[in-house]
Amino acid sequence: MELEDEIKKRFKMKGLVLADVKVVRMMDKTLENGYSDMIPVYVGKEDKISEKSSSIATKEQFELLQKYIVKTIKDISKEILSGNIDIKPYYKDKKTPCEYCEYKAICQFDKNKFGNEYKYVPDLNKEEIFEKIRKE
Ligand code: SF4
Repeated sequence: MELEDEIKKRFKMKGLVLADVKVVRMMDKTLENGYSDMIPVYVGKEDKISEKSSSIATKEQFELLQKYIVKTIKDISKEILSGNIDIKPYYKDKKTPCEYCEYKAICQFDKNKFGNEYKYVPDLNKEEIFEKIRKE
């Protein structure tokens, strides 16, 4: 049983799930009530998804997120085309992608060198993130 629990823990999907119990039940057909073994969702009594214990977003939030992603890609593309190719890896919760990056030797990013800066990502909760996106 321990191995089974470990496997479930390791392979449980992360991210956001559409806040629709029908969709949740299609994604995890074994789920009755409680925590799903596959997706980050808790379905409580009366078939209600627990917002507090789940990682979910509404259809509107997903649409907002899609628009924001497209806008961000366009903004980044414009920056690159205008010559801005600064190396600015993210830094969040004391972690950076440089820790496991295979291109470290090529890009030569070194936070101790003048001009090399991380892009610090603030620790915001889901609502704060969506609020920020809405404002932009
Ligand atoms: S080592 Fe360089 S290429 Fe890799 S993540 Fe860090 S900044 Fe980006």
